[in-house]
Amino acid sequence: MIFNIQRYSTHDGDGIRTLIFFKGCPLRCQWCSNPESQSFGHSILYDSKLCKNFGDCALAEPSAISTNPGGGIEIKRNLIAEPEKLKEVCATRALTISGETKSVDVLMAEVQKDLPFYREDGGVTLSGGEPLAQGKELVLLLQQLKKQGTNTNIETSLHVKWEQVERCIGLVNTFLVDLKHTDPRKFKQFTHGTSGLVLDNLEKLAYFGAHVVVRIPVIPGFNHTEREIMQMVDYVSTIKGLKEIHFLPYHTYGVEKYKMLGMDYIFNNNTQVLEEELLPYVQYAQSQGFKAKIGG
Ligand code: SF4
Repeated sequence: MIFNIQRYSTHDGDGIRTLIFFKGCPLRCQWCSNPESQSFGHSILYDSKLCKNFGDCALAEPSAISTNPGGGIEIKRNLIAEPEKLKEVCATRALTISGETKSVDVLMAEVQKDLPFYREDGGVTLSGGEPLAQGKELVLLLQQLKKQGTNTNIETSLHVKWEQVERCIGLVNTFLVDLKHTDPRKFKQFTHGTSGLVLDNLEKLAYFGAHVVVRIPVIPGFNHTEREIMQMVDYVSTIKGLKEIHFLPYHTYGVEKYKMLGMDYIFNNNTQVLEEELLPYVQYAQSQGFKAKIGG
């Protein structure tokens, strides 16, 4: 299931790229800027500012949605049996449904529309959520992209079973790997995962000769200190074959979406990170022999 296709992107890999965002992520980081990507099923977003109380949603799903006499609606998301039925009911787009099941053929047809823009260095980037957590269709898609000669990147946190990574080696040009922390305690405190799994997978991926770019999201209150970033860079320098590190500044663009999804934003540090704050990190990584930059 995907939740977005973004065309003509100049981020997340070289050249002009088509970004395909898959739904579902086992990590559920506290600061995630795409909270609608975390659930593997449909997500229901409601923006009260756009709601005119027409009540069409309540008519379509009477057991789960009711209109409030004073304005707005009440949603019991767990009682919505067929979210897809709600896709077109809201005229003002106050209620929207994120998530669409698309076949490999349909995704390939979408990609083919953009082929003329890729030139020598562009291509497709699979993002999420966690693309590697998808089923066998992911491999079919990668096989088709490879057959077509399309450069393919995958953005991943590597928090999946090794078999889910291994099946993609040889089909992916570049793995863009998010390294969030090397401290197991911190990692566990701020995500729903364990750092050991990520580090093991990263080491194996490098061992098998995959092209990997390490990306460190710099998150205030989580890892944004010289000591922690240096520890991460030092760790990466112990892995043979890893040559490039990108530093991604934390932003708060996704915060509003939590409310729209009926989720709590429990990450309690909303300080934007300025790019200049990352310069010392870039310089340190360069001093350790890495190609390093700010941004994806
Ligand atoms: S790994 Fe990425 S998509 Fe998954 S929860 Fe964390 S920030 Fe969000």
